[in-house]
Amino acid sequence: MLKGSLMPSQVVIVGGGVGGLVAANELQGKVGGKASVTLIDRKARFQFPPSFPWVVMGSRTPQQIERDVGLLERKGIRVLQDEVVGLDLVGKSVRTVRGQVPYDHLVIALGAGYAHESVPGLREHAHHMYDLDSAVRLRDAVAGFQGGTVAIGIARLPFKCPAAPYELALLLDDSFRRRGVRAEVRIEFFTPEGAPLPAAGPENGGKVLAMLQERGIAYHPKRKLKEVGPRSLTFEEGEPLPFDLLICVPPHRAPKPVVDAGLTDASGWVPVDPGTLQTEQSGVFAIGDVTALATPNGYVPLLPKAGVFASGQGKVVAHNLAVKITGRGRSQTWDGYGTCFLETGKGKSAFMAGNFLAAPRPTLKLRGPSAIYHTQKVLFEKYWLRHWF
Ligand SMILES: Cc1cc2nc3c(=O)[nH]c(=O)nc-3n(C[C@H](O)[C@H](O)[C@H](O)COP(=O)(O)OP(=O)(O)OC[C@H]3O[C@@H](n4cnc5c(N)ncnc54)[C@H](O)[C@@H]3O)c2cc1C
Repeated sequence: MLKGSLMPSQVVIVGGGVGGLVAANELQGKVGGKASVTLIDRKARFQFPPSFPWVVMGSRTPQQIERDVGLLERKGIRVLQDEVVGLDLVGKSVRTVRGQVPYDHLVIALGAGYAHESVPGLREHAHHMYDLDSAVRLRDAVAGFQGGTVAIGIARLPFKCPAAPYELALLLDDSFRRRGVRAEVRIEFFTPEGAPLPAAGPENGGKVLAMLQERGIAYHPKRKLKEVGPRSLTFEEGEPLPFDLLICVPPHRAPKPVVDAGLTDASGWVPVDPGTLQTEQSGVFAIGDVTALATPNGYVPLLPKAGVFASGQGKVVAHNLAVKITGRGRSQTWDGYGTCFLETGKGKSAFMAGNFLAAPRPTLKLRGPSAIYHTQKVLFEKYWLRHWF
């Protein structure tokens, strides 16, 4: 009875990564005292993934790209460092290790988890940069590498930031050249994809392929990883690939609480309305990597996983919740716009921008590489780590 009339609305955002941070900030800025905004994440510190390749290259320290999530408390956001273990969609509460957090509106921004164990030998023998500690270990392995074969690739689709492994291959090439050991290193790229960046269409993918070829990086498409041994990879089809250093994007999967809550579909991810990010449950929204967002006109059936989408979706969901809670303004729909930097080494970056949901086809264009785009990526990093904390 009291609720709805006197009590402020309870908005709970689970996941304080890229999408959750943006949603929490935007919502708090718009609703003031009319809602209580709670952000729950298992980690005390946010780490900025687009800078992980720079950590591997030694041009950023981990401390430079981390921020304390608790800083959001200064803005009036309630921050809980806790593990989400269940989502009670009927009783409208989030179950954590420490207790229950009731909600009126729920925003799921739990991202993608990793399933190394689904490829035998992967955890034991492969490096990756898909979390900060692993990026630091990879940095040390690369720094100590004097010659031999680097196998770099992708275990399974989908994976987040479809440009990231290609970017790393180009940065490695650049780093080995600068160290004067490139002639001693073979770089072999393997992937289950048919071509680079399939969601961006054949023209853009072809440009990335040309960059690999110009650098002498061998490309092995349509290779689905079967097993990893101490010095060799086997695929479901095709020749084995020997390596001295293996770097592999691990398989991704949706976090257990969303699977257990019955929110995922046959894709393994959470289907949402592309415009509103509403799930099949009323009052429950999902944004970012955890979603399965259909692209009816796309080159691939589902939108790729990227931070630029998570943050754009977080803004729209926050705006629409604020409209609902305050009764002011008009609701918006997410438009599918995205951008992406692809660092290419030598202080340069390529840049792609466009609408992934445009009809009849996505309107994406890869430009560069140029030093200007590299500078823009550096400025974007600085902006991000300052603006949202
Ligand atoms: C190396 C690398 C480079 C990238 N570069 C780019 C780039 O240049 N541009 C770009 O757009 N994207 C990039 N991305 C992708 C981008 O980082 C992700 O797409 C983005 O972070 C997704 O945001 P999200 O909010 O959906 O998930 P995340 O940012 O992953 O956040 C999920 C949060 O949920 C928390 N969480 C998960 N499960 C639980 C639980 N049970 N309990 C409590 N907390 C939990 C996690 O701790 C995490 O903080 C890159 C990714 C990587 C790995």
